[in-house]
Amino acid sequence: MCGSEVPASGCDVASEVREAKETHDDGFWMRRALEEAEAAFAEGEVPVGAVVVSGEGIIGQGHNRTEKTGRPFEHAELVALNDAVGGRDRWVLTESRLYVTIEPCVMCVGALLLARVPCVVFGAREPKTGACESVFALQNEPKLDHHMIVIGGVEADRCKELMQRFFESKRGGFGK
Ligand SMILES: [Zn+2]
Repeated sequence: MCGSEVPASGCDVASEVREAKETHDDGFWMRRALEEAEAAFAEGEVPVGAVVVSGEGIIGQGHNRTEKTGRPFEHAELVALNDAVGGRDRWVLTESRLYVTIEPCVMCVGALLLARVPCVVFGAREPKTGACESVFALQNEPKLDHHMIVIGGVEADRCKELMQRFFESKRGGFGK
């Protein structure tokens, strides 16, 4: 858990975040990310959603919009990160956590590390492109300067079900 049960080495990066743990659990924030994923689904986008949380509030949110924009890097994580840094005078997010419904890819893990996000919580694994556990575990790469705590499996069934429903509608599949 990235919440109250997290060990001392976990995501307790700031007093305001510690305070948040007492009132919200990871499932709460993941369900907010799921709302973003559902919005993506409704728009015909691969249903991935993300929120950036600092203290007790969301400071950035977004969902996948690669189809709408025609840009392959408009993943939910980057949309949410851009939203989070947009109104701030600093680009680092050292006191935040990012919740995303699907395991982040290489590009998104790179962005999260650059933004110094210390804790990432994802829902379902992505067996083909996941860069936190499935294909790579870049957050633990000793050759990189920065690392982060990653917690997976929060609301995983709901996150995966949404993806399966989307890809079945496209005659594909997810995680098979
Ligand atoms: Zn990505």
